[in-house]
Amino acid sequence: MSRAGAFVRELIWPRRCILCHRLLDRGGERLCPACARSVPEPISGARRGAFYRRWAAALWYEGAVRDSFLRFKFVGCRFYADVYGLWLARAIRDKLGSDFDLMTYVPISRLRRRKRGYDQTLLLAQAAGACLDLTPVCTLRKRNLVKPQSRTLNLEERRYNIRGAFRVIAPEEVRGKRVLLIDDVLTTGATVSEASRVLLEAGAKTVHVAALAVTVM
Ligand SMILES: [Zn+2]
Repeated sequence: MSRAGAFVRELIWPRRCILCHRLLDRGGERLCPACARSVPEPISGARRGAFYRRWAAALWYEGAVRDSFLRFKFVGCRFYADVYGLWLARAIRDKLGSDFDLMTYVPISRLRRRKRGYDQTLLLAQAAGACLDLTPVCTLRKRNLVKPQSRTLNLEERRYNIRGAFRVIAPEEVRGKRVLLIDDVLTTGATVSEASRVLLEAGAKTVHVAALAVTVM
């Protein structure tokens, strides 16, 4: 962005901390001093019955993190990806290591991408990938007509609901690869498990999952 453009944005959209949304004293910073000091340790685990091996996340999806993420996803705060990507890269490095041949991501449907103008998970993958020397490859296509994952569904219903939602665009790209699959927010894991299932079916060797945030189960 040009200096004039940045100046205009400061006027109409004062710089706020991307996590707690408090006004910042100085331009150029992305986090207030308190949030910069208190970024928590990455989280990881395994899920029984899932098609991926392990997962890692940078943050718990609650409170200020959730509000921040919703601004990123729905209110056009795309530049949050720069900071989110650093945290996501750290979670990957600390909890999953670096033995990956391919970084890919859970896409939104083309219809939704057209409406929103961007795919927030691709932005995350690109930002984290820049720190890890990995370039995300689009390997999955999501059908347009997948019902949103309702909060009222239990895990079995979610798994059923999401089955068939993805297809692998070019199986030869994933065959034999150790895949790192990026998602934005991990809830039950039904979505990433289904994405992992089709990647493995297409010949991927292993799938590990990394997300910006994970809900408290
Ligand atoms: Zn803050």
